[in-house]
Amino acid sequence: MRIWNTKLPTKVKYFGWLLYHGRLNTRAALHYKGIQELEDSYCETCATTLDTQEHIFCECRLASEVWGRMGVTCYPEWCQAPWLIGSYLPLPPQVHLDVILLTMWQIWKARNKLIFDQALATASDILRQVINDMDSWSCRYKDNKNLLHTWRMYLANSCNSVDSLPPSPVLLTWECLGHLCKSMFLSME
Ligand SMILES: [Zn+2]
Repeated sequence: MRIWNTKLPTKVKYFGWLLYHGRLNTRAALHYKGIQELEDSYCETCATTLDTQEHIFCECRLASEVWGRMGVTCYPEWCQAPWLIGSYLPLPPQVHLDVILLTMWQIWKARNKLIFDQALATASDILRQVINDMDSWSCRYKDNKNLLHTWRMYLANSCNSVDSLPPSPVLLTWECLGHLCKSMFLSME
């Protein structure tokens, strides 16, 4: 299976294997196994939606923001076929599945931290964690290190996209100066 062919550590491959078989212990899965009551089986942030794999990795706000930042669409049916997610991105295909699985792994970890530690993560936090993992595990990629680096640059760019950042005070200052100069020139004419 493609997931076992990635260069990821075994724990992430195993996570990918569970995901592929729809066997992650989501709240909904625990409910279907008779372990959890229905009222305890909803998403931690979306009170009316069951905590399923499809919801966690595709539909929930945090996941859709992560994919959105990466310029990727994740359809619910692609959860169990992660090699389809973002396969059209103009980035090295050799490490594509590795990066997508790492992203899903970090979405899963963020979901667990929210449930068990009440720690809220943002899309940028998740992308930063993916980059950290790529840096920590880059030695596994030997000949493909440069390809991984291309993805890293792309993620770093997605992570720093300006939409969620407050305007920089320096930029504001320059903008004000620009207006000032403009009005000075106008008044000189
Ligand atoms: Zn949700």
